[in-house]
Amino acid sequence: MKILVAVKRVVDPDARVRVRADGSALDVSGAQRVMNPFDEIALEEAVHLKEKGLATEVIAVSAGEPESQEILRTALARGADRAVLIPTAAALQPLAVAKLLRAVCERESPQLVVCGKQATDDDAAQTGPMLAAMLGWPQAAFASELSIEAQGGGYRATVVREVDEGSETVELPLPAVVTAGLRLNEARFTSLAKLVKARKMPLEILAPEVLGVDLGSRLETLSVIEAPRREPGVRVKSVAELVRILKERGVV
Ligand code: AMP
Repeated sequence: MKILVAVKRVVDPDARVRVRADGSALDVSGAQRVMNPFDEIALEEAVHLKEKGLATEVIAVSAGEPESQEILRTALARGADRAVLIPTAAALQPLAVAKLLRAVCERESPQLVVCGKQATDDDAAQTGPMLAAMLGWPQAAFASELSIEAQGGGYRATVVREVDEGSETVELPLPAVVTAGLRLNEARFTSLAKLVKARKMPLEILAPEVLGVDLGSRLETLSVIEAPRREPGVRVKSVAELVRILKERGVV
């Protein structure tokens, strides 16, 4: 069974970034870039399945600026067998990424695609579900547990999903798309030796034109504003004082 893992290069979620003076976008120049944290979890799960003997090959795929090859090399160091870069300078929206991933799925025929539940830069949480819809495959988003078993010549996945009220367990035949939530696993550390070795591993380049995908954007950003600063907290001596303050502030 082949597993395809989608990995995105994002601004480090711990980096301090500000809104540009004209309010058009965030100014991310100079900020460090990392593999999207949920994609680290997605990759870890795919490598687990390979270590358990359920998967035969793990393919990491990233679309974006050529520097995305850095995170693909990290993916190779962490256990991916192959890495595919779809280079583009276009500002990719989830729909375009889903189309690119669908084209790669049509070439590679994976049994399972694992995406992060969301990218920490756009917080869209759209790519995995859109990909599943385009492929006509079942999907389980926000996975916190995943198990796979062979059944009747194919495979079946059981996924525990995080939902507002708690968790939901679903069963789905493969091929399918699963998106990784925070509690699915803890991504492993990579040794320097493995990172160095991964630098010499081959990386496949697939141009978007070869995949025949229209990367045009469907959304226009009208404005970006910073979240209002939170007022510092106050220490209260009694519940009565807390209620009085909340009343004064119109909260209750
Ligand atoms: P989003 O829908 O943008 O929140 O992204 C959800 C997931 O889709 C990410 O966690 C990745 O697994 C995948 N994804 C999004 N953008 C890309 C990209 N440019 N290249 C590869 N995978 C991506």
